[in-house]
Amino acid sequence: MTITGGCHCGAIRYEAQGDVIVHALCHCSDCRRSAGAPMVGWTMYRGDAVKVTKGTPKVYASSENARRHFCPDCGTGLFYVNETMLPGLIDIQSATYDDPNAVPPKAHIQVAERIGWMERVHELPTFERFPPG
Ligand SMILES: [Zn+2]
Ligand SMILES: [Zn+2]
Repeated sequence: MTITGGCHCGAIRYEAQGDVIVHALCHCSDCRRSAGAPMVGWTMYRGDAVKVTKGTPKVYASSENARRHFCPDCGTGLFYVNETMLPGLIDIQSATYDDPNAVPPKAHIQVAERIGWMERVHELPTFERFPPG
């Protein structure tokens, strides 16, 4: 399977070939803060399976060995690489897929750092668009 995706403004585009190793929803505070979101979906691939086809992401060292790649124009988070903890692998922020339904997640990870109210967030009322009134 070939997956395509990119950032919000379109300056960065990428392509991923072959099977996803795992798709996990990460609740760690580093992911939350860098994305500005309550959790972040990551699909893991072999490093050589993913290539940037347009533009050049900016790389941010979010910890000693962690490298987060994002669009320098619109700020969308795209990739995570950690050659110490995850040698030869790359994670893609799965919500940047052109078809984010293509690969469903298999697990929640780092729930030790999860925001308290996220545990029961699926119980909230839902609206097709916005609540009435
Ligand atoms: Zn962009
Ligand atoms: Zn994380």
